[in-house]
Amino acid sequence: MIELSLAEIAAVTGGQQYDIPDPARAVTGPVVIDSREVRPGSLFAALPGDNVDGHDYAERAVAAGAVAVLASRPVGVPAVVVDDVVAALGALARAVVAKLGTTVVGLTGSAGKTSTKDLIAQLLQGLGPTVWTPGSLNNEIGLPLTALRADAGTRHLVLEMGARGIGHIRYLAELTPPRIGVVLNVGTAHVGEFGGREQIAVAKGELVEALPDDGVAVLNADDPLVRAMSSRTKARTVLFGEAADADVRAVDVRLDAMGRPAFTLHTPTGCGEVTMQLYGEHHVSNALAAAAVAHELGMPAQDIASALSGAGQLSRWRMEVTERADGVTVVNDAYNANPESMRAALRALAAMGEASRAQGGRTWAVLGRMAELGEESLAEHDAVGRLAVRLNVSKLVAVGDREAAWLQMGAYNEGSWGEESVHVSDAQAAVDLLRSELRPGDVVLVKASRSVGLERVAEQLLAVD
Ligand code: ATP
Ligand code: MG
Repeated sequence: MIELSLAEIAAVTGGQQYDIPDPARAVTGPVVIDSREVRPGSLFAALPGDNVDGHDYAERAVAAGAVAVLASRPVGVPAVVVDDVVAALGALARAVVAKLGTTVVGLTGSAGKTSTKDLIAQLLQGLGPTVWTPGSLNNEIGLPLTALRADAGTRHLVLEMGARGIGHIRYLAELTPPRIGVVLNVGTAHVGEFGGREQIAVAKGELVEALPDDGVAVLNADDPLVRAMSSRTKARTVLFGEAADADVRAVDVRLDAMGRPAFTLHTPTGCGEVTMQLYGEHHVSNALAAAAVAHELGMPAQDIASALSGAGQLSRWRMEVTERADGVTVVNDAYNANPESMRAALRALAAMGEASRAQGGRTWAVLGRMAELGEESLAEHDAVGRLAVRLNVSKLVAVGDREAAWLQMGAYNEGSWGEESVHVSDAQAAVDLLRSELRPGDVVLVKASRSVGLERVAEQLLAVD
């Protein structure tokens, strides 16, 4: 964070100073919302949580070295008191980013934001100091906290932007105005809350509406709803994808026996060979989006290709592939699930199964509920169950209650299946079943929405190693 005095912070946030002996004292450390993360010089933002109230930790934060607390009421220690702490964090971020003049890259989409954000960050670090969203902290709290990590040396700020409704991205883009805006795809994630894919497109497109004249909209040429967003921006459009007219293109895409993609990267200024270490064909699209950003910022195609080839495991529980000593491979993609990512993961599983089948190995899809699909929930679960059969997955283990039953019904109705699909009530039942059934050469995919907590299945399977 750049140094700001408490007086400046009060001015920017419209706050009142309480118990502050020296308004000229500057915040020099990170802005944090967890008192355990306070460092000397920090500003501690007190947020009301579901179970705890940050204001109760104000004293502890100051004792740990915080210069002051950003709070919504006086707390007995130095504080800037504002009406709304979240809005104040946003105002602070806006002021800091405006002062720094850092190049902001914003990205949104239904699936692949975090993966792509991590790829972009890995590429841009090769061009200069880069700050990026940790994990998936993509909302009105995580985004300002990330932006406030930037300092005078920061050349690029890469920000994941999430939307759970109309106006959310517009708000985030006002705080940290992007010069480059990336839209990955418009899927069915959170479709229940939005009320339809067109509405999702309206919400995601707010990112390109926020771009300036000299900005760049990086849009997925292969997704019609994203491609159409070029009419909603003043900025220049750069298309990425496999479409023939894409500016940044993947040609000759193939998957190795483990489902890792390789392709020839074409950019307007050159080509390069990419051999990815990440699993799943969907990463081709993510890699192209990242390549388009890096290309815009001046990175040569050869450098982009080698950086993409060197990019390793991105974040935990996303297609984390581990082979046990006994030859069983566990693919932990339990971080989250929606219809698009379910399909991508099943395809990757099928590709991995090709190699293991020769040695008698089978593929297992251990799947749970995809949350927040509203009226489309039944049809989407049914479709995933059917796809598992069409991809020749050996066994489907549907975990949970109602939606799991729909997954299994889909598989059953697609034909040929009886005992190949089972429905179990919870993660423990899935672990018990797998422990008795798995044999060397088998590949097990574990995937469901975050709330299902299916990573426990993967962890227990690896623990018995
Ligand atoms: P969230 O909204 O939870 O933050 P996200 O958009 O950040 O999600 P990731 O965390 O990168 O997305 O990936 C979520 C899931 O989607 C993973 O299971 C991943 O394998 C899959 N996925 C990643 N990229 C794509 C893509 N381009 N198309 C479809 N699925 C994808
Ligand atoms: Mg994310």
